[in-house]
Amino acid sequence: MTDTLAVTDGRVLTPAFDVIRADVLIDADAGEILEVGPDLAGDADETLDATDSLVMPGLVNAHGHATMTLLRGYADDKNLEDWLQEDIWPAEAELTAEDVAVGTRLAAVELIRSGTTAFADMYFHVGEVVDAVREAGLRARVGHGVVTVGKDDEAARDDFAESIAVAEEYDGAAAGRVRTAVMPHAPHTVGTEYFEEFVPKAREAGVPLHFHLNETETYIDEIDAEAGVRPTEYADDLGLLAEDTWVAHGVHTDASEIETLAERGTSVAHCPASNMKLASGMAPIQDMLDAGVTVALGTDGAASNNDLDLFDEIRDAAMLGKLAADDAAAVDAETAVRMATEGGADALGFDSGRIEAGANADLAVVDLEAAHLTPEHDLVSHLAYAARGSDVRHTVCDGKVLMRDRDVLAFDGDAVRERAQEHAETLVARAED
Ligand SMILES: [Zn+2]
Repeated sequence: MTDTLAVTDGRVLTPAFDVIRADVLIDADAGEILEVGPDLAGDADETLDATDSLVMPGLVNAHGHATMTLLRGYADDKNLEDWLQEDIWPAEAELTAEDVAVGTRLAAVELIRSGTTAFADMYFHVGEVVDAVREAGLRARVGHGVVTVGKDDEAARDDFAESIAVAEEYDGAAAGRVRTAVMPHAPHTVGTEYFEEFVPKAREAGVPLHFHLNETETYIDEIDAEAGVRPTEYADDLGLLAEDTWVAHGVHTDASEIETLAERGTSVAHCPASNMKLASGMAPIQDMLDAGVTVALGTDGAASNNDLDLFDEIRDAAMLGKLAADDAAAVDAETAVRMATEGGADALGFDSGRIEAGANADLAVVDLEAAHLTPEHDLVSHLAYAARGSDVRHTVCDGKVLMRDRDVLAFDGDAVRERAQEHAETLVARAED
């Protein structure tokens, strides 16, 4: 006997971006959508009411560092280099495994509350991240971030080797909801010799790669000074680019670099809010889309955002994309919503991001009974330009209800917040000691 879940009486955003009145019938055991159509509630074991609501694919946050929720509001209003060196890295040097456990749970509550069902995480103490993902019921692609600058040879090699070992250890955890990647931080923070030694090993292990690319002009200049080429060419020469690779940012990416990304099938996780806040620059997103690059959206860490509400990124991506292209028609509403759903799922290699039979049952139900979502000329426009994470009523991942009527089921949200406050205070006290 299969357990079924029916999402009833709502309107459904289809893969073609039509909005239809339909129920969604889900195989809760397999975590798959069985059927989308009228009157499917029938004998479903469980129902989720979507009256006056829009059923959309769960959002996919394709780049971030979940534990950085503990540093939300700790340091703002600085450029990336100063912010990292003066505030973030000293604090991260003091992080414990328990901090990661607590910070990732805080992130999970926020993600579920705002309709995100899958996320990417580049951090440390990955075992703790995996436990939090398992408990939350979310889907994630996780990895250990490698930095070799400032380390001796042995420590640098150990760090890269750990990223591969961790990726092999946890791939398929949490009933398959956890997938992994090898995550060298960026071309300028990992030495060439370590890329040369370990990228072939990562490829042998058969796991994807994820790294930051072209986030600021300063970082591009560093690669140019060292190797005499643009970072995308440098990364390509090292074998870093492939179809299962996705990069974060791609802010200052020129036409030849975009062509290389398109040729290699490498996806880009665009992080518009973080790029604006750190004044990193405007990524040429419409040019990437025109070249056939898959573009996803990410919040990046909460300390440079400062929240994990991906509805903000949808709106920011549309608006910043227009500004970057000097064209109000660039990165339109549908395009921005697609980046946050199917674009993210494609970048992370999940069969999610579309509400159709056979796809993962990952979805968000948006309450349309709100002044800021009235009138209903165009619901896709509302998702892009007017909706907020707090409009999400229900969140479903892998066929299981993670939030019902704004009540997160896996965690006691108040207890998670209380622990996060304690851990954040002691963490910055250690960093400032
Ligand atoms: Zn990042």
